Order: sequence, then structure tokens, then C-alpha cells
Amino acid sequence: MKVCSLSIDLDPIACYYAIHGLPEPAPSLGDVILRRGLPRFAEILERRKIQATLFVVGRDLEAERTTGRALIGQMAAAGHEIANHSHRHPYAMARLDRPQVDEEIGLAHDLITTVAGRPPVGFRAPGYDLSPTMLDALQARGYRYDSSVFPAPLYWSAKAAVMGLMALSGRTSGAVLTSPKLLAAPTLPYRPNPSAPWRRGQSALVELPITVSPWLRIPVIGTSLLLAPAVVRAQLLESLRTRPFFNLELHGIDLIEAEQDGIPAQLVARQPDLRVPLIHKRRALEATLDRLAADYDFLPLRDYAAQVQRD
Ligand SMILES: [Zn+2]
Repeated sequence: MKVCSLSIDLDPIACYYAIHGLPEPAPSLGDVILRRGLPRFAEILERRKIQATLFVVGRDLEAERTTGRALIGQMAAAGHEIANHSHRHPYAMARLDRPQVDEEIGLAHDLITTVAGRPPVGFRAPGYDLSPTMLDALQARGYRYDSSVFPAPLYWSAKAAVMGLMALSGRTSGAVLTSPKLLAAPTLPYRPNPSAPWRRGQSALVELPITVSPWLRIPVIGTSLLLAPAVVRAQLLESLRTRPFFNLELHGIDLIEAEQDGIPAQLVARQPDLRVPLIHKRRALEATLDRLAADYDFLPLRDYAAQVQRD
């Protein structure tokens, strides 16, 4: 059986405001992705007995964030893996120096350990950017894997184009363009080179790249699968036929709907997928999982990383 690891990046809604250069959202909206999106995923996963990996932003687990703490605690108790997605989700994390990187990883690490009851062993960088400094900091903490590499040139070009257009219209995106070196990284799990993580090397930690299709390297992630017509979705999944491992990345916002969840028009205007009815997105996700269940065993990333380390 092939292995599929399903991960959900629980980026707070403020991240999307930052990407589009909008001022911060109202505080009442701060935990909307966890409060409204996460339980929808939980229910779909529970029904299929799938254990997933949740990449959590540390700040969402601070003492006063009771919703985040309760929900993530419940997910951990249900067997899902809680992994580190930095403390504040800085898009420029790959440019931070070692003490700043240690702080981002360390604060989230400690909060996750408290709330989930066990220390995280996996990391995903904000905005898919991985630096040698980050890799070194993760190794020093004994992390088992990183899953930040997203070798998708078409996605990268589209992002560069959007950021360029925004600059022309006088708006600044909070997003940061990742190093183009990462685009040529291997597409299957590998041991990275400590000084150039986009190349093969001898690290103890393994890199689990987010899955892209062969040849064109089209992202096969939640956003593309959930919004594509069924026939395109089937083709994307079919393109992975010969791959032993599918690292399927979803985002908490994938199961958010503008109207039901009270998302302000300002953001919806720039993020049209929020207008797609929830029922449609939920059905597309369920159809995807049901199709995958025929060919794949679902394992959290930490379990698959352990297998890769053993082989
Ligand atoms: Zn993120």
C-alpha cells in the first residue's frame, strides 16, 4: 500500500489579511479558522478513522487563547499529530538570524508540548521557505522531519506575478517570495544537505516535500483539489499513481465559507475561494479522501518520517 499523509496548516486568518496587504482583522475574528474550520475537518477525519498532522501556530495556544488550547488538546487526544508551524508565522522566517529562529521554534515547541501532552517532532516553515539556519535549529532540538519544501515553479511564478501587480498598485504583500533554489528540490522524501536543504545530503532529519505532480510539478494540495472540477481532480490524483508517498497539504481556511463564517467582504474580494459554498468544498474533500482510501494507508507525517529514517 502507498502512504498518504494528510496535513492541515492552521494559519490564523490574520495571515491572509497580511498576504493581501490589508489591515489586521477585528479581534473577534482571530480564531475563526480554529473555531469554525477545524471541527469540520475533525468530523470528516473521525468518520474515516484518519489520523492527520496539524501544523499549529504557537501563538494560538497561549494561555488566554482558550478555544485554540481546547480544540488542539482534543485533536491530540484523538491521535492526531500536532506539529510546529512557528510561533508568529513570520513570512520572512528564512531571513531571521539564529536567536530569532530559535525563539520562533522554541516558543511554539513549548506551548505544543503543554497542550498536546507530547513534544512536536515535525516542522513546516511559514510560506514554504526553509533556510540552513532553520534546519540546523530543528536538528539541534532533535526534530525528526521538516515538511516545508514545495517544489512548484508554476505556483512560485503565479505568486511572483500577484506580488508584482500588488506593488504596481501601491499595496505591499506580507508574503515573501521563497528562494528559487527550493523549486528544484527533490519531490520525494530525502535527507537534506545541512548547508543547502534543497539538495540531498546527510542530515539526521528527513525532508518530506509537499506533493506536486510529476513533470509540470503542479501543486496537488487542498486548494487545487477542492476547487478543481472533478475531472481535473481525478487527473491530478492519477498523475501520482507511481509515487509511493503522497504528502497532501490542506489549510484550515479550505473549509471556511464567507457567508456562514462571517468573513468580511474586504478579504473575500481578494480571496474568491471563500465564496465557494462550504457544501461543495466539503464534498470535494470527502470524494478525494474516499478515492485515496482505495490506494493509500493514511499515516501522520511523524510516522512516515520514522519509516524513512529506518530505511
Ligand atoms: Zn502557514
